[in-house]
This record gives sequence, C-alpha cells and structure tokens, in this order.
Amino acid sequence: MSTPATSAAPAAPAAAPKAPSSPFMNGNVIDGKAVAAKIREETAAKVAELKAKFGKVPGLAVVIVGERKDSQTYVRMKKKACEEVGIASFGADLPDTATQDEVLAVVAGFNANPDVHGILVQLPLPKHIDEQAVLGAISVEKDVDGFQPLNIGRLAMKGREPLFTPCTPLGCMVLLERCGIPIKGKRAVVVGRSNIVGMPAALLLNKRDATVTVVHSATPKAEAEAICLQADIIIAAAGQAQLVRGSWVKPGAAVIDVGTNPIDDKTKASGYRLVGDAHFEECKAVAGAITPVPGGVGPMTIAILIRNTADSGERFITGAVKVSGAGRQRKGLAKLIPTREQLASPLPLLAAAVGVAAGAVLQRATAGRR
Ligand code: NAD
Repeated sequence: MSTPATSAAPAAPAAAPKAPSSPFMNGNVIDGKAVAAKIREETAAKVAELKAKFGKVPGLAVVIVGERKDSQTYVRMKKKACEEVGIASFGADLPDTATQDEVLAVVAGFNANPDVHGILVQLPLPKHIDEQAVLGAISVEKDVDGFQPLNIGRLAMKGREPLFTPCTPLGCMVLLERCGIPIKGKRAVVVGRSNIVGMPAALLLNKRDATVTVVHSATPKAEAEAICLQADIIIAAAGQAQLVRGSWVKPGAAVIDVGTNPIDDKTKASGYRLVGDAHFEECKAVAGAITPVPGGVGPMTIAILIRNTADSGERFITGAVKVSGAGRQRKGLAKLIPTREQLASPLPLLAAAVGVAAGAVLQRATAGRR
C-alpha cells in the first residue's frame, strides 16, 4: 500500500540571529578594551613568572625617526604599556635628518643587544629612508611587528608558523576567539589588502580554516557589497570612513572594524571625531557582533604587541631561540648567500623566498593603486 503523498511542511522561519554570549560583549558590541585588558593581565603574569624563574624580563626597543606628533604619541603609549606589565623598554629617538645608515646602525645595535627581545620601528619613516631596508634589517627573531618577509612567508604556508604575527590583524582574530565567534568553515571577507592589516588578516583567517575573499580598491563597490553580504565575518580595513553599510551585512554576521578615520564634528572641542570603516549604527542593527570605533580593535594592537614581546622574551630567556643571520643587515653579494642557520633548516629559507616573492608580486600588483 502506498502512503499518500503529503505536501512538505512549510519551512520554519529563520531564527533571529543571536549575539554570541561572551563576558567581552555588551549585547552585540564587542568590548575591545576589556579583551585588551585581559591580554595585558595574562602578559603581566608571564613576565612575572620569567622574572621569578630566570631573573630576567623581556625587553622591547622602539625606534622613532623624526618629530611627527602622532608617532610620538604611539611610541609613548607603547612604552607605557610595556612598563605596566614589567617589560623593559629601550628606545632610540633619532632626528628627521638621520641618515639611513644611522637608522640601520641603531637597528643593528638592538639586534645584538641580548636584553632586547623585540624591535619595533615606528612607521612612517621620513621619505629619504628606505622603509623596506630598515624593516628588513630587524632580526627575524626580534620582529615583534611580524612584518619581516620570513614571518609573513611562514604565515602564508601550510604547516609553518611565524615567530610573530602582525599585531592589528592578530588582534582581530583574538577578538573573534575571545567572543566565541566561530571561524572554521565560515565565510570571511576582508575589505582591504595592505601589507600591515588586510593581507595578513586574510592569511590568518585562511590558516584558521575560514573561506576567505579579499575585496580592495579595484573591486567595484556593488560587487564588494554583494560579496560582503555573504560573509559570516567581515574585517573592514580600507581606511574609508563608513564604507561598509548596514545593507552590506548578513543578519548575525560579525563585523570587525579596523578603520580609524577622523571626520568633521562641530560638537567636539577638537572639531572632529573618529569613525570606522563600517557605519556603526547601521551595521550594529544587523550584525551578531560588531566592534566600536574607538574601543574595538584599537586597544588590541598594543596589547598584542606586548604579548608578542613577552613571547619573544620567553623564547630567548629559555634558550628556545638565538639571533640568526636572517634579517641582519648583509650587504652586496653576501645577501644572496644563505646563512648557516638557513642551510641547516632549508624550510625557513623557502618560506623567506616565498615571502620575498609574494612581497615583490604584491608590490608590483599594487604599484600605483592600493
Ligand atoms: P592602507 O591605506 O595601507 O590600505 C587600505 C586598503 O584598503 C588597500 O589595500 C586598498 O586596496 C583598500 N581599499 C581602499 N579603498 C577601498 C574601497 N573603496 N573598497 C575596498 N577596499 C578599498 O590602510 P591600512 O594601513 O591597511 O589601514 C586601514 C585602516 O585601518 C585605516 O583606517 C587605518 O587608520 C586603520 N588602522 C587601525 C589600526 C588600529 O590599531 N586600530 C592599525 C592599523 C590601521
């Protein structure tokens, strides 16, 4: 006997998107300050443990060239953050007129200093100094900013891990993790492809098994909107005020807003206020989770910098790493000859080659358009 055909039950209406519950969220708003405070607390505990066990603390050297007020402020904040968690802070303050060789000599000094475990060169550098040459001179084992091609190469490779990951994109990932937002198997869109935020953010999401799309300045706006609308996670890092509108966001998606853009605001004493690359109010009405600007990604950048420094200090102090030749300034033909360390372990050399090649391709592909 055949059973009578029944018409399929109407599909239940999709459940309203629920914000993930996390002590670091107020409703659907991610509290970046609270996550950053937790990272600092964990870092302070690690530093105290190293001091108690080995009588040594991690050290961070910050190199600044010139008198830009914003750079001076960032450097002061970084030094203060180090002091608060017990990291020793070193610094070199060079005038605008410093030559490239003088800057390279300072970096070489910190490379050789056993009390320094992280070196950071505050960007931008004055125009007469070759930024890539200076960043490339930082020992890869002390590259706390994670901008060395070797570290980026390792980030790009399956089965390899960088010693350091760039602080802002890693900060975005930590926000997602600490707020319980799933990444594996999810669709992620990164808006922007800069070397310091967009590109490493895409690599990190890929490493964590998200399906990643990058949209950039050459992507037609309507296409960027349609692609973002499919995303479970959007990382907005375009440097374009309020580019990502509510209509770009899938209900329940997470929006991590890296942008910090000043816009006119006559109600403020300063005459301006900071907004992100996402339109906060519109996106908040649709998103399952969203970072505010300020108070979202911003506080994470310095928190991750000090965490990277503490991790580096731990590797040096426990003897897990030594300074190798990679990243040291080598001149002329010597640059082409692999170091003893690179020959002993050819994979990092391959990673370096991939990183350098990727960097060259990126530079060529993005020359004249960002
Ligand atoms: P960048 O200018 O180097 O790169 C911007 C990227 O966005 C480029 O790759 C470009 O292709 C892309 N882009 C530009 N217009 C676009 C558009 N209309 N649609 C899609 N993509 C577009 O900037 P960056 O250094 O990557 O920084 C991005 C933003 O993040 C800026 O607002 C910056 O101030 C901010 N930022 C914040 C922190 C922090 O700690 N909060 C750290 C770094 C950068």
